[in-house]
Amino acid sequence: MSPDDLPAALARVARDVYARHLSTSSGGNVSHRHPGGFLVSGTGRAGARQTADDFALCGPDGAHVSGPAPSKEAGFHAALYRQRPDVHAAVHVHADASLALSCLAEPTSGNVLPILSSYAVTTVGRAPLLPYHPPGSAALAAAVHAACVGANALLFQNHGVLVYAETLEQALDRLEELEQQARVWLLTRGQARVLSEAELAAANHAAGHRFHVPAGEARPRLRADLHGWSP
Ligand SMILES: [Zn+2]
Repeated sequence: MSPDDLPAALARVARDVYARHLSTSSGGNVSHRHPGGFLVSGTGRAGARQTADDFALCGPDGAHVSGPAPSKEAGFHAALYRQRPDVHAAVHVHADASLALSCLAEPTSGNVLPILSSYAVTTVGRAPLLPYHPPGSAALAAAVHAACVGANALLFQNHGVLVYAETLEQALDRLEELEQQARVWLLTRGQARVLSEAELAAANHAAGHRFHVPAGEARPRLRADLHGWSP
């Protein structure tokens, strides 16, 4: 995609994510690599009405270059692009089911995503849960910098989810799949059957990426103080 076409493409994604109830209008942000660094949602720009003028250009270090003031969460996008040269697009949202999962499970550098189908492995793969850090903080950016080398999706405790890929379309597919796995798991109060070890191994083998779900981690480990949920 030409750099000139990126702002309009990002605006379409932001509106699309909002229309599909994957984000509140004021929460979340999207970004894409750019020859000058990366484009990211401007601060306070409503997703429901996003236009091509609503994106800030930031340098590789995350410093503002042009356009509206960037989202306060631009720092973790910068950290991601520095660490993952293969990644060109990122979508961060506070989607309902992902947010709920992030509040119920224990943080882990392994996998927190319930693996209810092989698509969870082939489309998403291992999804760690980062411990809580305030939105926009340097601590959150540092945590993303450290964890993004081992996954294509990160959950943020009591905050939301970040997915990333080579293209915006792949990142969106990843977000939809992750959110559905989390939603179905919630609908079944954690009782849904997850893939067996043999099924998980086969799905890992079929995945076209290197972020395999570790054996024994097809089900999230929940906080010890929860009541009435499957362990
Ligand atoms: Zn956020």
